[in-house]
Amino acid sequence: MRLASLYDDFTEYFEQAAQYSEHDPRLLEQVKTCNNVYQMTFPVENDDGQIEVIEAYRAQHSHHRLPTKGGIRYSKMVDADEVKGLAALMTFKCAIVDVPFGGAKGGVCIDPFRSSPEFVERVTRRLVIELNQHNFIGPAIDVPAPDYGTGEREMAWIADTYRTLNPHDINYWSCVTGKPLSLHGIPGRREATGLGVFHGIMQCLADPYSSHGLSPGLDGKRVIVQGLGNVGYHAARELSEHGARIVGIAEHDAGVYDPNGLDMEDVANHRWTHGGIAGYPAGQVFADSLETIEQPCDILVPAALEHQITADNAHRVQASVVAEAANGPTSPDADRILRHRGITVIPDLYLNAGGVTVSYFEWIKNLSHVSFDRMLRRNSEMHTSRLLDTIEQQSGTVINSDRRAMVEQGPSERDIVYDALAQTMTESYDRIARLRRERELPDLRSAAYLYSLELVAQSYIDLGLFP
Ligand code: GLU
Repeated sequence: MRLASLYDDFTEYFEQAAQYSEHDPRLLEQVKTCNNVYQMTFPVENDDGQIEVIEAYRAQHSHHRLPTKGGIRYSKMVDADEVKGLAALMTFKCAIVDVPFGGAKGGVCIDPFRSSPEFVERVTRRLVIELNQHNFIGPAIDVPAPDYGTGEREMAWIADTYRTLNPHDINYWSCVTGKPLSLHGIPGRREATGLGVFHGIMQCLADPYSSHGLSPGLDGKRVIVQGLGNVGYHAARELSEHGARIVGIAEHDAGVYDPNGLDMEDVANHRWTHGGIAGYPAGQVFADSLETIEQPCDILVPAALEHQITADNAHRVQASVVAEAANGPTSPDADRILRHRGITVIPDLYLNAGGVTVSYFEWIKNLSHVSFDRMLRRNSEMHTSRLLDTIEQQSGTVINSDRRAMVEQGPSERDIVYDALAQTMTESYDRIARLRRERELPDLRSAAYLYSLELVAQSYIDLGLFP
């Protein structure tokens, strides 16, 4: 029997939500369908001097808004269906957080964790040549970003290769996001997805209409995080800094659980030095990593890959909230089981949209060729200073100089990014939660899909593509 792919999952979730839409079914079919998939094979020399044939994909799900946007993942598991499903998720993710992109996703079939940096660099630069030749990359066309197995390093190689190929495009830095700060990246992009996960969880906990039964705020809440990569690490760090107790951490090789709480930085260091969690000297270590996510907790954060919560283990999950930091961690069968058991799921297409939100800020910054703080920091400081002078004059009191200096300080670019991200995540949650209530939808996932598919459908109508 063929295992369901991420694209099958997406189709099922989409169709569940589309039942509540009044749009023409043919329009909904267009909104659902993935527009383009470009499959490439190209030769790259490996470290032994042998030629390897590399398989890669770039899927562009929807062009209702341009450029298309989405990460590039490096993994041996990548195939056409996976990138199609992930590209589709990107379309609806962008619509939910109101960033003006269609969805895309790329994948390269290599194991980045067992490859030399030199090989990964050769593959990355060759990939960009391929994408460029076929018009699958460019600031106005399609803008990649980090995903599983890629990061700032790969984004720097992508930007550098693109600008070599397109020296006359003055916006060449906007051809990719998630770049290092020294190469026109933006502060906050690295931690953006994890931070967004934190804001989304906070908002759900504070939602008086949600049925999770937990109190608002994170104080003392028990959290299990699966995957301590970029997303999981920053989410766990933010959650624990705001009072949550990280009781479980699962990685590819093993998991660790301690109801009294783990020192997540220590676990992260162990993972860094030993390449995994096996042999961690505290708590209960599970050789079967998936057993960790079945332990008691309030919030379970799957932040690794797809298909982690399936019909096989969903009935053993002991959390009140499943917060989908990864893309596609819950299969539709498992989703039904969780719903039936009264477990609240905060869906991926909303919860992990912090990454693309800050990518949007980076893209705008690169297109404007100026950082956000540069144009307003001094102005904001002057404005506050005049206001404080007026308060002092009117009240006849002198404001303490330390306090004054603190209040007067204008926002850094990081402050601006963090605040805009928090606002985006908060407002987006409220929109989907409201729709869920108003339309009496079964869960937040249906609400997120319905909200975003209606927006995309409306774009097709406004573009005159459907009567
Ligand atoms: N790979 C990330 C995602 O799945 C980021 C996409 C982007 O920033 O364009 O949302």
